[in-house]
Amino acid sequence: MKNPSSQDNNATPVGRYAPTPSGTLHLGNLRTAVAAWCSIRSRGGKFLLRIEDLDRQRCSREMEERQLEDLAALGLDWDEEPFRQSDRDDVYHGQLKKLENYRLVYPCFCSRKDIREALSAPHAPMGNVYPGTCTSLSRDEAQARIANGEQHCWRLGTAQAPRFFFDAFMGQQAINIATDGGDFVVRRADGFYAYQLACAVDDALSGITEVLRGEDLVDSGARQAYLLTCLGLPVPRYLHIPLVVGSDGTRLAKRLGSQDLRGLAEDGHDIGTVLSWIGWSLGQLDFGERINHPGELLERWDVHRIPREQTVLREEDLRRFNPPARP
Ligand code: GLU
Repeated sequence: MKNPSSQDNNATPVGRYAPTPSGTLHLGNLRTAVAAWCSIRSRGGKFLLRIEDLDRQRCSREMEERQLEDLAALGLDWDEEPFRQSDRDDVYHGQLKKLENYRLVYPCFCSRKDIREALSAPHAPMGNVYPGTCTSLSRDEAQARIANGEQHCWRLGTAQAPRFFFDAFMGQQAINIATDGGDFVVRRADGFYAYQLACAVDDALSGITEVLRGEDLVDSGARQAYLLTCLGLPVPRYLHIPLVVGSDGTRLAKRLGSQDLRGLAEDGHDIGTVLSWIGWSLGQLDFGERINHPGELLERWDVHRIPREQTVLREEDLRRFNPPARP
């Protein structure tokens, strides 16, 4: 008889890329997408795309189209029609109800100002932590305030959350969500579901087995893993990889860093240049070595060769991957 863990090890890996269509994809975003795709495709797995458009005001269909176009132009492909989070309120509602039935979430009526004031009181918890004001409300009291139409968000209790998070790239991380932020919002006071809930639930319900993304989201990884455990849903393997930064060491935002494929093309960097720079920055290609399709990375792909430190984006490095000038 097969034991269940060997079955799990043999299961087809399923990965994803989950962009927020609030702008175009810059080189750092494209690099994460390529890494997530290679990690899955190199093992013959399934790759999905999901549109994280919870923030209806910042997101647009136009940006969504641009992002999909750019991912396809790079040579990435995906196995199913991407879905939008903005269409899935019912799904998130169902999962929130489960948490409510398990008594793991509670309504919180605090405004930002209430929280600020509670945190400045003597003996308040240290740092950036929800002070727990609404945890002491009885269920009847909370129900009465809801019935009265009082604005409220829903928070997930974190007192029982683990103090560690295992990341398959970064290793064991000491992340204590109970003392770093504390009970976190899963449904906002304006009625929109929070990123943590939507993202974690979508990963689990889409059968995602591996989440590879930027290390700026490792704290979210800890929250999402905990949330899925509370829901009794499968927790994917998380890999958070170091980001690309501008030459001043800050996040990509300035001109070169914030450019999308069109902007890079205008500066003379074709798709092959972008892909090759990405392959090099992920530790898979030699400096100056040129490829034209991400499939060329699959045979040699080794996630452990991704550098442990951030990659600095420099114009002169990009230029080294340009095709040789015609004689
Ligand atoms: N939608 C998020 C972003 O574009 C990524 C979330 C994720 O990969 O879990 O930053």
